[in-house]
Amino acid sequence: MLTITVSSLSGGQGKTTTALFLGRLLSRQGFTTLMLDSDPQHNLTTYLGFELSPNQPTLLEFLKKTVAPEDCIYPTQDNDNLFLIPADDQLDTVQDYLSNSGVGATLLKRRLSAISQIFQVCIIDAPPQRSQICLTVIGAADFLIIPAEASVKGYGSLVRTLDLLSGLRDVGATNASILGVLPFRDRWFGNTQAQESRAAVDGMRDEVGEKLVLPSIRESERYKQAINKRTTLSQLGYTDLEYPFEILIDKIRTDIGSK
Ligand code: ATP
Ligand code: MG
Repeated sequence: MLTITVSSLSGGQGKTTTALFLGRLLSRQGFTTLMLDSDPQHNLTTYLGFELSPNQPTLLEFLKKTVAPEDCIYPTQDNDNLFLIPADDQLDTVQDYLSNSGVGATLLKRRLSAISQIFQVCIIDAPPQRSQICLTVIGAADFLIIPAEASVKGYGSLVRTLDLLSGLRDVGATNASILGVLPFRDRWFGNTQAQESRAAVDGMRDEVGEKLVLPSIRESERYKQAINKRTTLSQLGYTDLEYPFEILIDKIRTDIGSK
């Protein structure tokens, strides 16, 4: 199983949007895919159509190992290849558990190893804060996707995320490498890119190098339409907007092949 965490250390950077469309496309292209919602705001869980009752197991029980791992994994209505370990707002209570465990950064990786034969890809939607949950989801990752708004705020989010990643690598708390930086809400007017967007994306290229900056997610209501209708962009007739995810899937296919 290839584990990919979508992380960016500010709110509203496109983490959940990226995780959702990537997981949906991967599974529709035949990859057995596990999505993992690690944000107590649980937007990914909601976008996938889940309304859990308080006694249903979630990522909280998966981490604490209070039920069998399989009981925390739910099939989705999206398609037969797509599964979810959901979250609810109770997930916040796991922060103390992780910090008291002494092995917080490696705990999720250990838990996922029990189910790594079942799935080809695991996509993790990370929370925006630099919390214990954030550390354990980066600790579990083989690869990181860092979405960042094409703006001054987004550039700052990228820099903070890169700082955290290098700090964690330095102490051996993660082996994750960067799969790509994904500019989010890139604004274009016809063939002209907005000045702020261009400056931010140029800054991202300077930080990580040209090759790691993916084609942008453009500013568009169409992504929200696809989220609300629980469908893909191509099914709504916007195949061109799916291009960043197709490039990501090509990279993932190569990495699965070489693993
Ligand atoms: P959080 O840190 O709160 O978890 P996030 O990084 O997961 O946020 P998203 O929830 O994916 O960010 O996106 C932020 C907002 O942008 C959402 O309301 C989403 O519907 C909206 N959005 C998604 N795609 C686009 C787009 N292409 N253009 C404009 N807005 C978009
Ligand atoms: Mg989110």
